[in-house]
Order: sequence, then C-alpha cells, then structure tokens
Amino acid sequence: MSESPPSFPAQRCADCGLRYGHGAHVCRQCGSEAFEDAPLSGEGTVYARTTIRIPGSDQQGEEPFEVAVVDVGGAESVRVTARIEENPGLGPDDPVEFVERRNGVFYFRAV
Ligand SMILES: [Zn+2]
Repeated sequence: MSESPPSFPAQRCADCGLRYGHGAHVCRQCGSEAFEDAPLSGEGTVYARTTIRIPGSDQQGEEPFEVAVVDVGGAESVRVTARIEENPGLGPDDPVEFVERRNGVFYFRAV
C-alpha cells in the first residue's frame, strides 16, 4: 500500500459550491466572485492525453512533453489540464496521482 498523494488544491465558489481546478475569478454558474480553498483527493484518472512537440514560448526547450486532461478528486472531481511526469504514455482511464503545482502547472504521475 503506497502513501496517498498530496491533496489537490481545488477551490469552490463560496456561494453555490461549484468546484474549480484552475483558478477562477467569476463563477460560471452563479456569477459570484467569492472563492474558498476546497482541497480534493489527489487521485485522478486520465481523460485524454497528447504529446506537445511545438510548445508555447514559455515552454521552449522542454519538448516533447506529455499533457493530459485529468479528472482529479474522486466523487467531486474537477477536470484540469496537467503535465504528466516521466512520459509514461498514459491513455484514457489510466490512474494518476497529483505530485505538485510548479510554476502554475499541475503535475501528475502514473500510479
Ligand atoms: Zn457560484
């Protein structure tokens, strides 16, 4: 049994409770501008994945690297875009866990 991953730093709207993985400034459901921290389980699954070979200017020199859309947080999951460490070639429905947030980017790895 491995240790559980660090919790994922999600937020939720303080008025309607809608959860967000990436930071939001205005709730898309109710228009509120009030948010609070609402950490989720760091366990997730891959929804989709792609390999970036021509990155944006802030990631030059890091290519190729894996970017995945990950559903993280179990029953209350949020869908986020993330980097996958160690380029394991994960596919849809593969389990991953949260590693850390670095320079505003979420990093996950294969479980
Ligand atoms: Zn709201």
